[in-house]
Amino acid sequence: MTSFFWLILFGLGIALGSFLNVLILRYNPDGKLFDFKRLGGRSRCPKCKQDLKWFELIPLFSFLVLLGSCRNCKERISLQYPIVEFLSGVIFVAVPLFLNSFYWVSSLSFALFEAPFWYYIFSFCWILVFVLLLAMSVIDFREYVIPNEINLFLAILGIIITAFLVVKSSLLPRFGSSFLGHYALMFFPVGSLILNRVLGFLIAGLLFSALSILSQGRAMGFGDAKLAFAAGFIFGWPDTIFAAMLAFILGGLVGVGLIIFRGKGMRDKLPFAPFFAAGMILTFFLGFTLISSYFNLFNFLV
Ligand SMILES: [Zn+2]
Repeated sequence: MTSFFWLILFGLGIALGSFLNVLILRYNPDGKLFDFKRLGGRSRCPKCKQDLKWFELIPLFSFLVLLGSCRNCKERISLQYPIVEFLSGVIFVAVPLFLNSFYWVSSLSFALFEAPFWYYIFSFCWILVFVLLLAMSVIDFREYVIPNEINLFLAILGIIITAFLVVKSSLLPRFGSSFLGHYALMFFPVGSLILNRVLGFLIAGLLFSALSILSQGRAMGFGDAKLAFAAGFIFGWPDTIFAAMLAFILGGLVGVGLIIFRGKGMRDKLPFAPFFAAGMILTFFLGFTLISSYFNLFNFLV
């Protein structure tokens, strides 16, 4: 019964991932994200324009059956499709599993509908956060732009998540805690949850805006600054800055790697959203593990 529930969640995630691919592929940087004229219509092979048959539209499955190439013209199908579908499926399973254990909601009975109903809505908001970050990362990777609509949705989700944390905090002992656990206490903690979110919003948003303005958009675009404002609402203080720090480390490593192995120059642009998204994912799932192993290592060396 329980495994059946997770299997259905995974399937839903894959199906949404398939829609994300359409959204990503048909996104035009000059237009709106949800342009129904562009989103409608049958899916076709981008090369030979052949309409896809129903059995070629089954997410993940059809990619495997077709062995990754178009049935008509044998053009290779981009790996983006199965990767986005699979990651979306993983998000649908991993996020509620993690939240359930982090907030001590119930001992794995989440699947059996023993958690309170509002908690499923709360978990779904977090799922949407990571699904939107996934779509945003691929769009930024392809087009070097972050759609305003996604930043706006993320900010709204951050406000909804914070509202849940404030209203329901008396029910769950750890509700509203930082993903860094007690290590968050080292960074000038503020008692109030709302103040904590406002602080995350202001510090991350203003820092990124300053970087964007000072570098005249070279180090950081203004879309990245808007993303930092939204992330502040979702993760608060100090988690947002921790995620940003991880993003800079990852971006730096990849940048140096590209210069060494691919001969890319310092001037080549790297999209920042995928790194920021990775930083947020690491903070969410592994924030406590990362910071505690860092300090353990530090104590060991000193
Ligand atoms: Zn084709």
